[in-house]
Amino acid sequence: MTTLRRTVRLRGAPMRSLDLQTVCDQCNKLRAHGNRTKCSKLRQAESVERRAREKNHE
Ligand SMILES: [Zn+2]
Repeated sequence: MTTLRRTVRLRGAPMRSLDLQTVCDQCNKLRAHGNRTKCSKLRQAESVERRAREKNHE
């Protein structure tokens, strides 16, 4: 008879800090407040630039 030892891991993965989701990484303000279009555009441009830089590195 085998004993199945199932470790219940409902929260196996460590939760990422929720601050990253609620606080804007561009202006460090709550995303729920104000207009975030500017910030999202900034973030988008940043990621595009980063991607382009990574490409040039290879
Ligand atoms: Zn922002």
